[in-house]
Amino acid sequence: PSALSAADVAAWIRRAAELVAADAEHLTRLDAAIGDGDHGLNLDRGFAAAVAALPSGDAAPGKVLIAAGRAIVSKTGGASGPLYGTALRRAGKAFGDAAEIDAAALGAGLQAALDGVRELGQAEPGDKTMVDALGPAAAAALAAADLPSAVRAAADAASEGAEATVAMRARKGRASYLGERSVGHMDPGAASTALLLRALADVASS
Ligand code: ADP
Ligand code: MG
Ligand code: MG
Repeated sequence: PSALSAADVAAWIRRAAELVAADAEHLTRLDAAIGDGDHGLNLDRGFAAAVAALPSGDAAPGKVLIAAGRAIVSKTGGASGPLYGTALRRAGKAFGDAAEIDAAALGAGLQAALDGVRELGQAEPGDKTMVDALGPAAAAALAAADLPSAVRAAADAASEGAEATVAMRARKGRASYLGERSVGHMDPGAASTALLLRALADVASS
């Protein structure tokens, strides 16, 4: 599509929940290496709650994301719950009452999500967190000319950003307790951000 409808945004949350459930063990393994091994479980719970909270009827795309974000904040443990919940709520607010999300709106939504995550978590780019996947994704979407390329570029940039966290030393979150020993492992939150943007690409290209 050239823009995302509310139904597309709801389909994104459902697809995200599917991918998170399928990848929960992998995310947990990444978190076991440099954290406490609960990231897959945390997100699986959170996105299941988000799916259950999706509004029925014809809510605007922004309202769909706000409902999903609220459910994630209330049901997800760990640092990632408030961070992802804030990301979705901020994106939803940025979408406002618009009935359709085009490339520019998607870029603005991802940027708002990034701003929310950075305000709450105080992470800088390069600190080995979800910011290192979300930041490049927002920049890529903002630079794209149309929705299909915005979605594809955001997903690709998030994956590359997650890969780049392998070489980083963690300066925020539990992984920062490991200091130099956090180097050589992918950040679980950056990996899950890449997964969430892949879910969006799946929905937008189907
Ligand atoms: P916890 O660390 O509380 O067990 P999770 O395992 O669910 O929570 O999530 C860990 C992920 O959260 C990290 O991989 C990182 O991407 C992200 N994270 C942690 N702290 C911050 C922060 N201050 N800013 C941004 N992201 C963070
Ligand atoms: Mg954890
Ligand atoms: Mg934990």
